[in-house]
Amino acid sequence: MASIRRTLSPYNDRSHQNGLNTTFSPQSPSQKLFSQGRKTLSPIRRFVAGVFFRKHQPRKSFQFSWRKPFFRCFMCFFLGFLLGMAPFNSDFNELSGDFRKSDFSLEMKPEVVSVQRSAGDLASVEKPKEDDLLIGAVELGVVERADKTDMKKVLDFVPGRQLIVVTPTYSRAIQAYYLTRLGQVLRLVKPPVLWIVVELNEASKETAEILRSLGIMYRHLVCVKNTTDVKDRGVHQRNTALEHIERHKLDGMVYFADDDNIYSLELFESMREISRFGTWPVGMLAQSKNKAILEGPVCNGSQVIGWHTNEKSKRLRRFHVDMSGFAFNSSILWDPKRWHRPTSDPIRQLDTVKEGFQETTFIEQIVEDESQMEGIPLGCNKIMNWHLHLEARGLAYPKGWVLPKNLDVVIPSK
Ligand code: UDP
Ligand code: MN
Repeated sequence: MASIRRTLSPYNDRSHQNGLNTTFSPQSPSQKLFSQGRKTLSPIRRFVAGVFFRKHQPRKSFQFSWRKPFFRCFMCFFLGFLLGMAPFNSDFNELSGDFRKSDFSLEMKPEVVSVQRSAGDLASVEKPKEDDLLIGAVELGVVERADKTDMKKVLDFVPGRQLIVVTPTYSRAIQAYYLTRLGQVLRLVKPPVLWIVVELNEASKETAEILRSLGIMYRHLVCVKNTTDVKDRGVHQRNTALEHIERHKLDGMVYFADDDNIYSLELFESMREISRFGTWPVGMLAQSKNKAILEGPVCNGSQVIGWHTNEKSKRLRRFHVDMSGFAFNSSILWDPKRWHRPTSDPIRQLDTVKEGFQETTFIEQIVEDESQMEGIPLGCNKIMNWHLHLEARGLAYPKGWVLPKNLDVVIPSK
């Protein structure tokens, strides 16, 4: 006990230990206090001094008593208890007659708002103003102008099906360009749209910043996976999104939108018409092959009657659809009975199949055959999105799209 006190005391014989010629008085405050003469101290000051300071009086013989340390401990505990019980930093609300916790409170209780109201109160609740409704409706794209003649349209507005757009992504120089482009397209799509963006093993700062800046509804997920036994990272990242949709029973149309493809607004609106599984042709531009390839359904009205494909190596596929060429009802993932699925095994993308077979093996888990598919838009003769192969993996500059310094100036300003 004594040795602990000695190390804690700032006035302890440190000058000797450090070999310094200190100007501090080696006397402790308590020593000073006591050395002023006990008689000059009032009984209260003597009591306080006795509690808080250690008396360094020369002792004739070492007689250790537990009474004083115990008494000091008790006093400290008692003071601490009183401080703890005090309504620290709180305001007294005179009107309601109770204490309101200040902003410094460490309690993280959600604010509870009482919604119990009498009928009289309800009558006095302010109705939204027509002007505000119209402005909101213009923002949502329900009407083109805030014109009162369109009020009926606004009041009759029923929000469309939710679109759940799943995008695997990874941090690289060109990512900012791709994610910003896709995010800005999604921002133009009529709500409700939920963008689920999935990264491998960590949520990068770059992705988080882009998502935050876009002002759309999103969820930034992380797929935790040992990368050594991964063939196609995107497959596992999409599966993380599927697990999330299944676990939270998210309702809407699920669409896999890779970050580097080109999407028209019309595509997203068409998806809202799908009941179970919808598909359409995708334009594929292969840089290396220098030719355009078309992949997707041949339709008679909305009925799928065949498939376009240019790839001989992929003839053995059951369905010839690109990953960005179909969308499906999310409830198939979490309500298999409703869709008469023969099994309730989770629907997932497979990393074990040959390249180019991910789409067909996935679709085979959702539908039995073409009769359960819907070709969109009617006749599926319109290309609404394009799958390009223009990846520039080696591009290293400028990192984060921030210029660390100016380029060498070769044309000075006039
Ligand atoms: N992707 C990813 N991690 C990777 C490679 C790809 O998250 O290591 C994503 C990528 O951002 C894109 C999707 O997976 O959204 C498809 O990747 P890519 O465009 O390279 O494949 P391809 O179009 O050639 O099939
Ligand atoms: Mn791609």
